[in-house]
Amino acid sequence: MPSTVAVVGGGYGGITAARELDASADVVLVEPRDTFVHHVAALRGLVDPAWVDRIFLPYDGLLERGRVVRDRAAAVDPRGVVLGSGERIDADFVVLATGASYPFPAKFAEHDSAEAKARLRAAHAELAAARGVLLLGAGPVGLELAGEIKAAWPGTAVTVVDPAPDILAGPFPEEFRKEVRRQLEELGVELVLGTALTAEPATAPGRAAPLTAATESGRTISADIWFRCHGTAPHSDYALDGGLASARRPNGGLDVAPDLRLPGHETVFAIGDVTTLPEAKTARNATTHAKAVAAGVRALMEGGEPAPYEPLPPGIVLPLGPGGGASYSPETGMLDAATTAQIKGETMMVEHYRELLGVA
Ligand SMILES: Cc1cc2nc3c(=O)[nH]c(=O)nc-3n(C[C@H](O)[C@H](O)[C@H](O)COP(=O)(O)OP(=O)(O)OC[C@H]3O[C@@H](n4cnc5c(N)ncnc54)[C@H](O)[C@@H]3O)c2cc1C
Repeated sequence: MPSTVAVVGGGYGGITAARELDASADVVLVEPRDTFVHHVAALRGLVDPAWVDRIFLPYDGLLERGRVVRDRAAAVDPRGVVLGSGERIDADFVVLATGASYPFPAKFAEHDSAEAKARLRAAHAELAAARGVLLLGAGPVGLELAGEIKAAWPGTAVTVVDPAPDILAGPFPEEFRKEVRRQLEELGVELVLGTALTAEPATAPGRAAPLTAATESGRTISADIWFRCHGTAPHSDYALDGGLASARRPNGGLDVAPDLRLPGHETVFAIGDVTTLPEAKTARNATTHAKAVAAGVRALMEGGEPAPYEPLPPGIVLPLGPGGGASYSPETGMLDAATTAQIKGETMMVEHYRELLGVA
């Protein structure tokens, strides 16, 4: 009898783990959304409506033997998953791949793709009419969004505010930050760093409404719309009891051992953004975790032991619109705008995920 593997969460890590194990186990992928969401291209979807439909990819072609169950995991224990419907899925192994939330438009809380598309199109219309945009957060999402807005509407004023003294916290060399700052300046994006707003704008984020915001350093910024580009929370409420709670940190992150199993649990793995691994939260890393865990599950099925997971060196690909941006990894050094456009900016990596999901 093949083992049953419950993969909880059908994002980047979950679809990779499910696909890798499909041939050797009975895979059940649990996911409340009606489609995979290619969040990596979400910001392009905001500024270019032609991209809206391309971000939502059906799960139908992902698995040959396994099945996708549209529901959320309400509770997880080492022997299976209880769904929101109350149904239980017994499993020999559980892979937790439930990711983390991020404010719209970087991620969508909606589980229904029609609702998410409608929200994205509505926000596009409001953004298109704005003359000034305020972005809170100078990390990869805030800067990528600034680049997308400037590429689509060069005349729109974009201001990015962040309390950190510089853009892009992380293990990147000064040369990389300098190049990104140079391109932002060329695009006319204003960076207001080292200071915070005295109070969050009174208007709702992502909705057109004139606003004036003050910074602690004494600046006054006027805009017609603002977006929150910081603040993420791991999804792991299903681990509040059922024996997994000892791995769950107060912020919701799940601790994992070097082989990506929850400490003290032989059959439960966690991958991707839901983990507390001290590395960048990226689809690239989630995919690497998924492949390591698939190999670990196969080893256990054959009577062996999972090997420790080997992290990739840190890396970042930061498009600033379809043709701009910069990338960095220790192996390649800094890559220029043209190379960054080839890697992500032009295609938003969507073909890779269409192939993985078997989308015709
Ligand atoms: C705008 C933007 C651009 C990005 N660009 C890049 C990039 O260029 N390259 C890169 O490598 N990374 C990029 N990232 C980061 C990347 O998107 C995340 O690191 C990645 O999504 C993490 O994958 P994951 O599988 O851990 O989680 P997710 O992809 O978030 O998937 C988690 C899934 O679990 C589901 N889920 C949640 N709770 C439950 C539950 N209780 N039961 C069942 N299912 C549940 C969710 O619905 C979701 O589908 C970007 C992120 C954003 C927001």
